[in-house]
Amino acid sequence: MTIKLHNTKTRKKEPFDPIDPGNVRMYVCGPTVYDRAHLGNARPVVVFDVLYRLLRHTYGADHVTYVRNFTDVDDKINARAAESGRSIGEITSETTQWFLDDMAALGALEPDHMPRATQYIPQMVAMIEELIGKGHAYEAEGHVLFAVDSWREGYGRLSGRSVDDMIAGARVEVAPYKKNPMDFVLWKPSGADLPGWESPWGRGRPGWHIECSAMAYELLGESFDIHGGGNDLMFPHHENEIAQSCCAHPEGDFARVWLHNEMLQVEGRKMSKSLGNFFTVRDLLEQGVPGEVIRFVFLSTHYRKPMDWTAEKAEEAKATLMKWRSAVDGIKPSDVDPEMLRLLCDDLNTAGAIARLHQLHREKDMGGLAASAGMLGLLDFETGAWWREISDSPTDELKKTVERYISERAEAKKNRDFAKADAIRDDLASIGIMLSDSPNGTDWMLDHTNPQLGNFEALK
Ligand code: AMP
Ligand code: ZN
Repeated sequence: MTIKLHNTKTRKKEPFDPIDPGNVRMYVCGPTVYDRAHLGNARPVVVFDVLYRLLRHTYGADHVTYVRNFTDVDDKINARAAESGRSIGEITSETTQWFLDDMAALGALEPDHMPRATQYIPQMVAMIEELIGKGHAYEAEGHVLFAVDSWREGYGRLSGRSVDDMIAGARVEVAPYKKNPMDFVLWKPSGADLPGWESPWGRGRPGWHIECSAMAYELLGESFDIHGGGNDLMFPHHENEIAQSCCAHPEGDFARVWLHNEMLQVEGRKMSKSLGNFFTVRDLLEQGVPGEVIRFVFLSTHYRKPMDWTAEKAEEAKATLMKWRSAVDGIKPSDVDPEMLRLLCDDLNTAGAIARLHQLHREKDMGGLAASAGMLGLLDFETGAWWREISDSPTDELKKTVERYISERAEAKKNRDFAKADAIRDDLASIGIMLSDSPNGTDWMLDHTNPQLGNFEALK
């Protein structure tokens, strides 16, 4: 089945035709590791996880390479270290592990490569030298800047703006050493108190954009298939990545398809750290919202539409997952439903795919439901602990009812009505409630394999 994807570069939905079907390559911009991921940060992770799963299903799990970076050199990290008195390394390694744990809770598969920027400094330096050599970058006051005027024909094409429009519209950092205010930093000097690496331009550190260009080149080559991220990164980050990569490696065309997810919002505004209107994935998990529920809510809205997180949506998702999980419990997954697959191939129509899962449940195709939900990363074992906990632990109502039967049985025994006492024990056993007598009284446990479990109606 042909996958169709909306390409930001052409503003069209296009059939996806990989450069090498034996190795389909995708790069997604990852987090800057200085703090817990907020819920908005999780949206691209889940969106591109679904695409990764679809590509693996289509081309084979061994024929897809997914790279997502960690930005572990950044002024926000430096500031966090300075204000907390902790070391940069401590902060970035702790935050990286938090991110991995939180995303695993959402059922996201780990990418094949998760490069950290600080491990690719020599590659960044090499790329910057290449850009200077080709006349696309210049050194000024210890900085190296990309000269946007050296590539006017290409700069701004992704976001559909001209350089003049961008100068007029953007908040660009004006600096005396810039030839054009739009020129952006490839390398900047580091004082003794900041992380730095030796380079031909003195001790310094890379700008943000160069890391993705250098790591994508190193791990995926000069041309690859898909580049993803949130649409807040389109300009300047992705525009700058393209400029750097296409100018350093004009023989390639960097990423062929650009995919951008829309923002998770709070009351109509982007959830972001700088607006302060955020809560973290960990906050939700700690409030008892299962990761699988978060994932389901995300998938209910198409990735190119803005979405709000609401408690109602989470409640509804949880009820649906409870219903589906009990329906597929013990059922062997059959094949992925072709209609669900068709919807997913249509620019990741996850909302349509979920509607289709509802239909499979209504039609009692539980094997198809299990297999198809599995393709979306739902109803699988790893994310199911929350449901097993709920379904394994007796409700208060069940406990009260069982205790009533047990005291009735004790009463019968006291009256030497052993026939009645045994009948109660056998009745309860028939609905999966197993009694055992001990000197301290009567204990009980539940037999979860009994399909009549807890069906007290059957005893009347
Ligand atoms: P950052 O750490 O801010 O660079 O963001 C990491 C990833 O999360 C990027 O792909 C961003 O586009 C994405 N992102 C940040 N905020 C949101 C949001 N509110 N909704 C969806 N994606 C977001
Ligand atoms: Zn990037």
